[in-house]
Amino acid sequence: MAEKIAITGAGLVGSLLGVYLAKRNFDVSIYERRPDARKTQLAGGRSINLALSDRGLEALARVGLADKVLREMAIPMYRRVMHDQEGNLTYQPYGKDGQAINSVSRSGLNALLMDQAEEHGVEIHFEQACAEVDFEQPALHFENVLSGEKSTVKPHRIFGADGAFSAVRGALQKTDRFSYSQHYIEHGYKELTIPPAKDGGFLMEKNALHIWPRGNYMLIALPNPDGSFTCTLFFPYEGDPSFSSLDSTEKARSFFKEQFADALALMSDFDQEWEENPNSSLVIIRCYPWTKNGKVALIGDASHAIVPFYGQGMNSGFEDCLVFDQLLEKHGTNWEPLFEEYQQLRKPDGDAIADLAMRNFVEMRDLTGDADFLLQKKIEARFAEKYPERWTPLYSLVTFSAQTRYSEAQALGQKQDEVMAQIMAMPNIHEKWDSAEVETKMLELIPEQGFSA
Ligand SMILES: Cc1cc2nc3c(=O)[nH]c(=O)nc-3n(C[C@H](O)[C@H](O)[C@H](O)COP(=O)(O)OP(=O)(O)OC[C@H]3O[C@@H](n4cnc5c(N)ncnc54)[C@H](O)[C@@H]3O)c2cc1C
Repeated sequence: MAEKIAITGAGLVGSLLGVYLAKRNFDVSIYERRPDARKTQLAGGRSINLALSDRGLEALARVGLADKVLREMAIPMYRRVMHDQEGNLTYQPYGKDGQAINSVSRSGLNALLMDQAEEHGVEIHFEQACAEVDFEQPALHFENVLSGEKSTVKPHRIFGADGAFSAVRGALQKTDRFSYSQHYIEHGYKELTIPPAKDGGFLMEKNALHIWPRGNYMLIALPNPDGSFTCTLFFPYEGDPSFSSLDSTEKARSFFKEQFADALALMSDFDQEWEENPNSSLVIIRCYPWTKNGKVALIGDASHAIVPFYGQGMNSGFEDCLVFDQLLEKHGTNWEPLFEEYQQLRKPDGDAIADLAMRNFVEMRDLTGDADFLLQKKIEARFAEKYPERWTPLYSLVTFSAQTRYSEAQALGQKQDEVMAQIMAMPNIHEKWDSAEVETKMLELIPEQGFSA
């Protein structure tokens, strides 16, 4: 008889994990607190998108879903388009020719993964909120969010894929020697929309991620298939300017007119969206261990919630599923060593991407508008093109090099920083950045084996 596996959370990671485990012939049930979004979604609701890149695609490919997702719902974004205060544009490719990150609809991808899980025999139970966990039996206790009716299931294994505020992790927090930290950054975010053009086309360049870097804050925009863009303002809660200083729609509008005039001109529903869309917080969560008794494991945001600035939260959660599946192949159902190796492998990578994501926030909001930073990127790109075996830019290591662990990417990035600090300190670097002298210096500073994927 197949082992029974219960997953809490039918979000992006829980649904994909369901597909993986059902394909390995486990008897999988998912318990989700919310109603079935596939039935309740109102036509014309807000579209919220996220960037899917190589790590997520690798994980989807392992269960045969990458091509389907790319074909049916992805818009490739080949470059960053930076908008300055006057509306002038500068461009920065994401990777080599043809490399792109993909804008996908969060709800569309989630629905596709739930459909796939069900096609493979997974049962999804909606409106069931996990309330408590018994780690010994093991057992999960639920409360129906509508009726309040309580129920208990006793699977062989439990996976907590119930997101940043995981109930399974909450139960683990009450156990001995469980470490946990939660940090809210000083910025939150608000989503706004640039609607499609009258003919259904795009009002800005379609195949790009747009950024309005403004020092301590920024606006970004990703394209949707219907011609609209979902814009996200990352903004401090307190101080000047901040969500609290812009305490009226008029103030927000005049602030946008000053800082993001070209975007505001395209936002036909700005006033209503500013008033109605929430200010949402951003949290970093770290914890350890991720598993208990060879019976319970955390995965995705439940084990490592990060800020969204590298576009890697979902991608890293999908990578968790892929790594888990590789370990399942190695260990079979020898769960204790499997869980142990899973957490030992993934914890350093979760920590690394958490740090890298904060670092990328500073780069995106601040440095993409900075002449030294842009020059440094140009020197790196030129060198990487000529000596690909010696240098892969950090962004590419994280985004396009799925075979390089996040922790390895971070370590290589630190070494690259040391080299670039010396290069950027060379006299007159702005004049001679593409000279033989700079190239020779870089070759001197970089070891034979290089800093590449
Ligand atoms: C503004 C923003 C932008 C982002 N952009 C990107 C991006 O571009 N690229 C990227 O890779 N990542 C991005 N992310 C991160 C990404 O959204 C998360 O990493 C991803 O959603 C994690 O998936 P998950 O399934 O682990 O958790 P979730 O998506 O949070 O799903 C958890 C599920 O569990 C359910 N649940 C919660 N509690 C319970 C309970 N007690 N019982 C039962 N069910 C429960 C929830 O209802 C939910 O369905 C972004 C995040 C934010 C906030």
